[in-house]
Amino acid sequence: MSAVDQQAPSGATARDVVEQASRRRTFAVISHPDAGKSTLTEALALHARVIGQAGAVHGKAGRRGTVSDWMDMEKARGISITSAALQFEYADAVVNLLDTPGHSDFSEDTYRVLTAVDAAVMLIDAAKGLEAQTMKLFAVCRHRGIPVITVVNKWDRPGKDALELMDEISERTGLTPTPLTWPVGIAGDFRGVLDRRDGSYRRFTRTAGGATIAPEETLSAEAAADREGEPWQQAVEEVELLGASGQDHEQSLFLDGVTTPVLFASAVSNFGVGALLDTLVGMAPAPTGVTTADGGTREVTDPFSAFVFKVQAGMDTAHRDRLAFIRICSGVFERGMVVTHARTGRPFATKYAQHVFGRERESIDTAYPGDVVGLVNAAALGVGDTLYAERPVTYPPLTTFAPEHFAVCRGRDTGKHKQFRRGIEQLDSEGVVQVLRSDRRGDGAPVLAVVGPMQFEVATHRMENEFGAAVDLDRLPYSIAMRTDEASAPVVATARNAEVLQRTNGEYVAVFGDKWGLRVFKEKHPDLLLESLVAAQL
Ligand code: GDP
Repeated sequence: MSAVDQQAPSGATARDVVEQASRRRTFAVISHPDAGKSTLTEALALHARVIGQAGAVHGKAGRRGTVSDWMDMEKARGISITSAALQFEYADAVVNLLDTPGHSDFSEDTYRVLTAVDAAVMLIDAAKGLEAQTMKLFAVCRHRGIPVITVVNKWDRPGKDALELMDEISERTGLTPTPLTWPVGIAGDFRGVLDRRDGSYRRFTRTAGGATIAPEETLSAEAAADREGEPWQQAVEEVELLGASGQDHEQSLFLDGVTTPVLFASAVSNFGVGALLDTLVGMAPAPTGVTTADGGTREVTDPFSAFVFKVQAGMDTAHRDRLAFIRICSGVFERGMVVTHARTGRPFATKYAQHVFGRERESIDTAYPGDVVGLVNAAALGVGDTLYAERPVTYPPLTTFAPEHFAVCRGRDTGKHKQFRRGIEQLDSEGVVQVLRSDRRGDGAPVLAVVGPMQFEVATHRMENEFGAAVDLDRLPYSIAMRTDEASAPVVATARNAEVLQRTNGEYVAVFGDKWGLRVFKEKHPDLLLESLVAAQL
């Protein structure tokens, strides 16, 4: 019997795992608020057959979607703090779209989602180009070296010049844009796109409100020239320019994170959405072996393994449950299997594995590499933890991202210091906030550091309601965090408007008021260790 015919305990053979894994495309959309991520997500779901949802996708009032209501705060704002995955089938593929919360719920979780995907779609508003949040999220993609597909959205509205946008992408991300389609008609006068792969013309037809899939009419180049005249001619000339400057798609360069294929779209009219799905299925990578903490590789055909990329507590206040979202790296996941929690060596029963959608939860029975599963009753699991079956494995810890907001946290009632400590420890282990300490302030007044200020509200709410320790936060005037070390710390601490703090694991973090202060200090002390954390301001 060959290796591929050997059966996992679940009954699935390695051949099944290879087949299922190769069908998976696991990705996330990176964008700035209002670029059209929710609209695009809905359009993708419309084009494909939705087969499962884990966690709320979007919940804007008056829009399709579900407002998950695990927190009063969330209800009041009508937005979703949860982030998980939408799973759908398209062509012969199973696509997992992981949500990246992006409005005021932008947080470290948003960054962490990108540790669980194999590719990203960078969604750009044609009028605004690359915006701040997109750049921060792109920095994480670059750090991981994952391939990025670019979608220029809202071409139906006035916007920038297409060639200028290509220059902007190339200058600001360092990726060479290799358009797969090219717009016919300037932004705001969207006629359709020239498909660079076969020279054909896909005519843009509007659909009211994007409620149905836009019928995309395909015309030959000759028919397009007759029909559109000057705009078609201009598109042809611009495409020649792209070719002359070597901006053609080459699969290996895309996979290596050197180039980015570009598509032009109008998500609200469903135009370009089918092309994006085809690109994801045809070009984005399927899950492959994952590097382990000891530098080895866990192949997709190895026994089951996964890592936790998000932990969410208190979704259901009646049950005080804790939900851990795992990304499967190898083998088959079957609900009910007992796996090992690598950090503690303890068994973990997966009886309650679920797709979760707002309040509705749907049991999940089988999942494969690339899939996301929500595990209920996951009190022991922390962000970055590994779960495995049979052969032990541990995945490297997840990167901690550069926080940008800082506040001193003090318990209101000094009699509750036990509850206070327990709550702070819990929030730290879940990765809701980064907990930093200094000798100057002592244990009773840790500094909480976050990526998005809403994490402060989540922390305050949970300290009071879940741990019974109401807290006050005093914001600190810092905005930049850098990695430093024990030797450099005493000198760094003397910088103006700066201080040095320590993480629970002993790492030193230097915080500064602004980048100018940091720059001046670095110039004066080039010998000190001051390294950027991932996704620090570019
Ligand atoms: P998100 O914040 O990135 O999730 O953005 P939304 O999907 O909520 O979109 C923000 C606004 O842009 C909404 O009013 C959408 O209707 C609108 N929008 C999204 N895509 C397009 C598009 O292709 N064309 C136009 N004209 N508007 C769009």
